[in-house]
Amino acid sequence: MSVTEDTETIRTLFRQQHGFLMSKIMFTACELGVFDLLLESGEPLSSGAIAERLGTSPSGTERLLEACVSLKLLRMERKDSEGLYGNTNLANLYLAKSSPKTQYHYLKFYSEVTYPGLQFLTDIVREGKGLFKKTHGMLPNSCFAALYRSEEELQRFSDAMNDAWNLYGREVMSAFNLSQFPLIYDLGGGSGTLAKECVSLYPNSMVTVFDLPKVVERAKKQPMSSNKMRITFKQGDFFEDPVPEADLYILARILHDWEDEKCVQLLTKLHQACRPGGGVLVIEMLLNEDRCGPFEAHLHSMLMLVLTEGKDRTPSEYKALFTSAGFKEIQHKKGSCYSIVLGRKQ
Ligand code: SAM
Repeated sequence: MSVTEDTETIRTLFRQQHGFLMSKIMFTACELGVFDLLLESGEPLSSGAIAERLGTSPSGTERLLEACVSLKLLRMERKDSEGLYGNTNLANLYLAKSSPKTQYHYLKFYSEVTYPGLQFLTDIVREGKGLFKKTHGMLPNSCFAALYRSEEELQRFSDAMNDAWNLYGREVMSAFNLSQFPLIYDLGGGSGTLAKECVSLYPNSMVTVFDLPKVVERAKKQPMSSNKMRITFKQGDFFEDPVPEADLYILARILHDWEDEKCVQLLTKLHQACRPGGGVLVIEMLLNEDRCGPFEAHLHSMLMLVLTEGKDRTPSEYKALFTSAGFKEIQHKKGSCYSIVLGRKQ
């Protein structure tokens, strides 16, 4: 290996070795409200002023801010030998809580649930059992029973889920023209964020969000806008309860939670309930057919190993699930993060 190659390899090693620290620095600055403070202040602030407003130690704050600059989350300019800190565009857009594109809640979930859970990764890989299967045994829906232990935990998960649709909602809902499907069920649709995107894109559509009772009770308490009048909520268990007839069923980030057998069970039920010419729209990250990449999907699949009973799949694997359930015409489109698979019933 040449000296340059060697240096490059060691640099890669260093970054990957310290990846956990980079994430935790970002989580900590988010949790402490650094990015919110700097967005609200409208002008760069010194480390001392930031520490005072956040009620944090001057020494810890200074080091955190410097590390954030090195990660390109903050920028620093010197004025009269004092360092003044401001948000980068990335922080203003995606880390400040008040931004319409914020990923703050996703980061909070990672910091409070996923990050501590990862300490068990070695055991999880050894045993092939996810975190909640270890802590909650073989309960049905064990991952959601664990995630929804309290009102606050349910809210935290739901907020985290919604953040993704601030970025990708429009893209995934417009990948196929869904105007031919007036009656839509969003199964496991949470608080209805994707349903809102759907009714705003397709003025003739009516969407029923179907989710577990606790989720629906909470979602119903949220105020209704005029578009949301075309959204209704129905509580139930999509494995246990009948699913009413519809033109289209959306399964957004659902199948990755479950083993193949359960996915086929659910898809078969939907094939039976679906009107002729209707279909099922699956929204998921996809692995490449050769299972080498993309990087994001492999990371996500590891998360699914830790948190759920499921995994990420290739397009062919999703097609095989659809085919086993009776669907004939299956197409997929690649998105910038999430891809979209549409299976039609003839
Ligand atoms: N579709 C939403 C999205 O993409 O933001 C939420 C995805 S989240 C990973 C999985 C959803 O499925 C949760 O809202 C959960 O409550 C719901 N869910 C899990 N098991 C369910 C079941 N047996 N019946 C109905 N909904 C279920």
